[in-house]
Amino acid sequence: MANKRPADAARRPVFPVRLDMIRPAAPPIKPVLSASRFAGSAHRTVQPAHGLGLDSAAVRQHMVRRLSQQGVTDPRVLHAMGIVERHRFVDTALASQAYEDTCLPIGLGQTISKPGVVAHMLELLCQGLDRPLGRVLEIGTGCGYQAALLGLLASEVYTIERLRGLHAKARNNLRPMRLPHVHLVFGDGMAGYAAGAPYAGIIAAAGGDAVPAAWIDQLAVGARLVAPVSQGADKQAGQALVVIDKTARGCHQTVMDAVQFVPLKSGIA
Ligand code: SAH
Repeated sequence: MANKRPADAARRPVFPVRLDMIRPAAPPIKPVLSASRFAGSAHRTVQPAHGLGLDSAAVRQHMVRRLSQQGVTDPRVLHAMGIVERHRFVDTALASQAYEDTCLPIGLGQTISKPGVVAHMLELLCQGLDRPLGRVLEIGTGCGYQAALLGLLASEVYTIERLRGLHAKARNNLRPMRLPHVHLVFGDGMAGYAAGAPYAGIIAAAGGDAVPAAWIDQLAVGARLVAPVSQGADKQAGQALVVIDKTARGCHQTVMDAVQFVPLKSGIA
């Protein structure tokens, strides 16, 4: 899939932005995750979930190989996908399906995206960076699965959820991973989360008719936003993944694959 990024957006600075971080050319991506990021997760003994039937680490590695065959190449993303225990973020009855490439219900009418889509979006968010992501914002915490992945990829994560029940569920799901740099916020993500801005990346897990202006405002220059957005006035037209690179000269938008996400809604509930 072609994805041309403006030259200066490929050299996105981490937060806080410093002029000396802006280099003349984008160096190649190197694996950058430090072992300390995985404290409490990577080195923990993995217990098979009820109904999973197999060692979940092996099943996850199988998923990682499949993602790789599907075209996910970023070693940081593949590494994170191999560590985070997706089966712990869904109901026990669904645990056996956790490593299939399928979206799953997480309660309150919401769904967790399929691993292929999650990995693709994270790869887009990390693309062109030769260092870990800085501070990122996730709109739509849901069950907390993607927030956990972001916790392994970024130095700091703010994730906002408008449904109190899911905010609480994510808190419970994430607690065993002990990721103190992942901050869960209950609120309406339509307004972004100004307290953490500017962000080195913003990723949305719910799709609206347009990207709210607040998200662009809260994006650092050189940073990237990845979000599903409805295409056209006709609701039947569906959503597409949109990548927005913020540069000193303005924003550059790339419309990518067709996707299907839950709607971005206003207010809290
Ligand atoms: N990333 C999540 C996916 C959750 S589905 C995960 O890994 O589980 C998308 C979520 O976006 C839903 O929980 C929905 O309630 C939430 N959402 C929709 N509109 C929102 C808004 N304006 N602010 C915050 N969250 C929102």
